[in-house]
Amino acid sequence: MAKNDNRRANIPTGNVNQKRGQSQISNGTFVYSKNMSIAELSKQLNVPVSEITKFLFLNGKMFTINQLLDDENIGLICLQFGYDFRKEKIVDEENFEDLEIVDKKEDLKPRPPVVTIMGHVDHGKTTLIDAIRNSNLVASEVGGISQAIGAYQKEINGQKITFIDTPGHEAFTAMRSRGASVTDIVVLVVAADDGVMPQTVEAIDHAKAAKVPIIVAINKIDKEGANIDKIKNELAKFDIISEEWGGSNIFVNISAKKNIGIDRLLDAILLVAEMLELKANPNRYAIGTVIEAKLDKGEGPKATLLVQNGTLTFQDYVVVGTAYGKIRRMTNEFQKIIKSATPSTPVAVIGLSEVPNAGDHFMAFPTEKQAREIALKRKLTKIAEERASSSGASLDDLYNRIHEGEIQDLNIILKTDTTGSAEAIKASLEKLSNDQIHINVIHTSAGVITESDIMLASASKAIIYGFNVRPSAQIKAKADLEKIEIRLHRIIYDLIEEMQDAMKGMLKKEEVEVTTGQAEVRTLIKISRVGTVAGSYVTSGIIKMGEKVRIIRDGIIVYDGKIASLKRYKDDVKEVKEGFECGITIENFNDIKELDIIEGYEMKVKE
Ligand code: GDP
Repeated sequence: MAKNDNRRANIPTGNVNQKRGQSQISNGTFVYSKNMSIAELSKQLNVPVSEITKFLFLNGKMFTINQLLDDENIGLICLQFGYDFRKEKIVDEENFEDLEIVDKKEDLKPRPPVVTIMGHVDHGKTTLIDAIRNSNLVASEVGGISQAIGAYQKEINGQKITFIDTPGHEAFTAMRSRGASVTDIVVLVVAADDGVMPQTVEAIDHAKAAKVPIIVAINKIDKEGANIDKIKNELAKFDIISEEWGGSNIFVNISAKKNIGIDRLLDAILLVAEMLELKANPNRYAIGTVIEAKLDKGEGPKATLLVQNGTLTFQDYVVVGTAYGKIRRMTNEFQKIIKSATPSTPVAVIGLSEVPNAGDHFMAFPTEKQAREIALKRKLTKIAEERASSSGASLDDLYNRIHEGEIQDLNIILKTDTTGSAEAIKASLEKLSNDQIHINVIHTSAGVITESDIMLASASKAIIYGFNVRPSAQIKAKADLEKIEIRLHRIIYDLIEEMQDAMKGMLKKEEVEVTTGQAEVRTLIKISRVGTVAGSYVTSGIIKMGEKVRIIRDGIIVYDGKIASLKRYKDDVKEVKEGFECGITIENFNDIKELDIIEGYEMKVKE
């Protein structure tokens, strides 16, 4: 630690409940660290359950004995029965979040906002990022060779804004799925000559799921056919309403290409930032998030870190993910060496022992010993977590988890073949919400299950429901990797019944479809009396005569039936293996098309 370093180290300072999760009464104050049920509270306060229930009842509140009480009700009960109360944080050294020292209010200073630009493809995100980057460069920047480091800062009248360089909601949500929320404000770009498109809606849902305010930039207003009111109308359907219309979103009309309105957009960002009262404490060791990282041939692991609190200084020891190292060099996006980085500043650093992942948290320490110990603990925790963890939600244990108070919200992403069924299923699912569990369909659209859905599910701990749509093998593998549950249905009633059963803890042993093989239709042969024969190539597994198959077109199931005939050359065969061609006809189905996927499957009871 440098001699004149007045930063506070990231070591918890006593104001914490050392014994994990244990509540106690000291000096007439009930000190607790986690929410608890009436039964538990009754034991802790030594007040009969019936007294607590009666008190709540008289206040118009009905709770079952095992239902978890929130802080407000715990507080009310304590006061009623003569105790003061205080909730305290539990120390858990493996988690940076728990290690965080609590900053005193007077130590907090305003910090620049961190902004991500989102929107549909071709609506002008990249052009906007460039326009902002190049607009009124300050003298010190001019001439510097700007290098993409994943984020950059812009200064407007002495106020800074940090922009994340990778546009789009994929990167944003991928980060969030790793537990990193770096974005304070989302700028949603919508092209005035086009309108609200699927990725616009996705971006809105992703920003809302992250509870980040949205500023709308209506772009391409220079173009003929630009219709600003049409865009406003379309966005209003998604609850994105401009202030002039009585809503809470700022709308700015811009042309990223012609540099119109960029200053107003930047002013709008600063205005929203001011309302958010973004603050951090520069006088402590830094914590933050990895924005991007790579292995540089000459310099070794190189990462862009966004400082979110504290100040990161040259030669600090940092733990990133499960690795640690000493900062050997720190540069800004103009490759200028900087000695220290305050909150919201992105910096490229070298000196780490491994290449971290985007979205990993980092934390700085004054000594190597501390950094090494924490890194080691995190490594051990990670191994344990990987053994046990499930990152998404699951229906299997829903009932128990509700009753143990582990979850109060069940998030669902719904992908369907048509918009009509999406609306119907969403409404039916949300209607199942009750006092104990709130069912929340956070994103729904007609279309195939995409990687972005998996990332959103992972970030929001959601289950994905597919209605008449199938995940591709690649998406399925990704879902397995992220431990996201995908449930597939073809009948609305079955889907709703399954959810009801899960909520009652009566989920039947699930029958799952096991894919046995896939063939791609390469050519069509029309034969009178026989119908259409699909000249196909088996791309995986085995296709068997007589087995159940689905016909999948662009990720959507268009037919479900049986194989009526299977031939190699002129011979009928029982099965055809991966890598071979064959002729397939489907029972009662002649509408097969080139590039359709014929997928064989069987039903098996899930263990
Ligand atoms: P992205 O996919 O959202 O990153 O979109 P791009 O920034 O790549 O822009 C897509 C196309 O729209 C490019 O050809 C841009 O030159 C064009 N474009 C972007 N902004 C504007 C604008 O304000 N006016 C006009 N006329 N064209 C624009």
